[in-house]
Amino acid sequence: MTSRFLSRTSWFAIVGAVLLSGLILWETARYARSVALDEIRVRNAYTLDLVVENLRGELAKYSFQPRLLASSTILVDALRRHPAEPFVDRANSELERINEVTGALATYLMDKDGLTVAASNWSSDKPFVGRNFSFRPYFKEAMQGHLGRFSALGTTSGERGYYFAHPVRHEGKTIGAVVVKMAVARLETAWRASDDVVLVLDEEGIVFLSSMPEWRLNAVTPLTAAARKRLSETRRYNGEPHHQLSLSRAPDSDIIEIGETGLAGTSKATGKTRKYLAVSAPMNEAGWRVMILADASGVAYRVQIALLVVGFMLASAFLASLNIYQRRRRLNERLELQETAKAELEEKVKERTKDLSRAVARLRAEVSERQRAEEDLRRTQEELIQASKLSALGRLSAGLSHELNQPLTAIRNYAENARVFLSRQNTSTADANLGSIVEMGERMARIIRNLRTYARNEPVGSRPARLLQSIRDAIDLLQPELRNAGIEVDLEFTDEELMVVGGDVRLQQVFVNLISNAIDAMAESPRRQLRISVETHASEVTIAISDTGPGIKATDINRVFDPFFTTKEVGKGTGLGLSITYGIVNQFGGRIDATNNDEGGATFTVTLQRAQTRREAAE
Ligand code: ADP
Repeated sequence: MTSRFLSRTSWFAIVGAVLLSGLILWETARYARSVALDEIRVRNAYTLDLVVENLRGELAKYSFQPRLLASSTILVDALRRHPAEPFVDRANSELERINEVTGALATYLMDKDGLTVAASNWSSDKPFVGRNFSFRPYFKEAMQGHLGRFSALGTTSGERGYYFAHPVRHEGKTIGAVVVKMAVARLETAWRASDDVVLVLDEEGIVFLSSMPEWRLNAVTPLTAAARKRLSETRRYNGEPHHQLSLSRAPDSDIIEIGETGLAGTSKATGKTRKYLAVSAPMNEAGWRVMILADASGVAYRVQIALLVVGFMLASAFLASLNIYQRRRRLNERLELQETAKAELEEKVKERTKDLSRAVARLRAEVSERQRAEEDLRRTQEELIQASKLSALGRLSAGLSHELNQPLTAIRNYAENARVFLSRQNTSTADANLGSIVEMGERMARIIRNLRTYARNEPVGSRPARLLQSIRDAIDLLQPELRNAGIEVDLEFTDEELMVVGGDVRLQQVFVNLISNAIDAMAESPRRQLRISVETHASEVTIAISDTGPGIKATDINRVFDPFFTTKEVGKGTGLGLSITYGIVNQFGGRIDATNNDEGGATFTVTLQRAQTRREAAE
């Protein structure tokens, strides 16, 4: 099962990291320890060389002396003549003198039985003279004809020394030996300053010289029975007891553990041990083994420091990885969140897009529906405008047929009269009549042209139109009615050039409608006056058409432009005239208003945009 907080891989990584850290620390300890030990080993080897060379030098200084002394006639004579006093005395003095010069502990002469015949210390309180040292190995070796060497404790003085013995010969026979006992204690004093422990062991493994005074004459290895026997026979250490030093050495290791005091079985033993790195070398010529023990307790400290440093680095690395891991985790979480949010958003966008495209499709359908409806309406309006014009034509035609008949009759009369005047050769009057005929014909042509224009189905759209021309054409069309009704037309406008945004025919239709209504309104009025005034502004033109009729009832004034609103009797009004007029003016971007005059009657005000040039009007 995976943890809630950490994945299985993370657990593996942690366990792996811990194991790896353990391994690294272990290796670090091993390496630091081996480096530290190697350093000590190098130093130890150097110290050992130094100590051995020093010992060799010191011993060499004394090793030649017995040999030199052996040839002294004084000593030979003393051996040959003792106990004759003069010879012995001379030998004593000679030995004393020489001993002072060499600085040896003692210099003495033994006969072939080992009895001391003469000695440098003959006058001291413990003289060697008269004592027998035949048990000492150096004497035996000298008697065998070669240099005897031995390290031991003096049996008389109790002082440690190194003995050199040389045979004294006379006539080819060994008659005795001369011995020099060298002082060794001073060698140790130089070693005390060193941190290292310096040991000089004899053949039996007993510490003969040591920088640690309490270790002296103790054994580093258990003494065998044979060794004990040899020690007592040679009285090497004067029968002093030899404690066993608690040195323990692991096999194949140069590390020695030594009890705190170094001495096992003594009251001082504490059981605590100290570690030393040991190096030793034999000094066969002296029968010694020299050993250097370097304190290795510093190694543990060095290892601890190394472990601390590496441990700190590992901990830092661990913390850094933890930090990186957590950051990555947080980043991943955030990315996941973002991914989900993105997916949700995309889903939403898709849905919205679908909704939107559905809405767009619906809107398109609605738009085209609407366009169709608008197109239908526009067409209907066009048809309506045209229809209303045609219905107006019906109304106009009555007056117009009279308007045409009258000049026709007049033309016939003028023509007949002209013929009469021509037969009478009165050409000038005939010409005047013909002129009148032409005038009448022109007037008829104008009326017919005007009527045809009005009936024309003008295409939708705005173009510049001459305002005054449109008003005049409308008045012309309605002229018979106006005259019949006895209406006085008052047109206070003369600017032939003023152009407005519109269309000639539709504008004419606007004015025809408005003037027709005015004619209808003034049917019962005692004063019948139609006033058309034009006001020009910077971009607009206002045309006011006022009548002297009864005006519009206050309740109706807002309804007059509604389609099918009429107050006229059945068959007379359709209620469409003003509604169509309103639509046309609107198409031209203009306005139309109805008001009642203060002095009575109604005023319809049409406001149109000015078109200064044809191009501007078209725009
Ligand atoms: P119709 O002329 O067929 O009635 P219109 O739309 O032209 O239809 O006119 C609607 C109504 O507006 C008229 O019936 C009338 O009541 C009123 N009206 C129109 N012009 C005038 C006017 N100059 N004076 C008074 N009333 C008017």
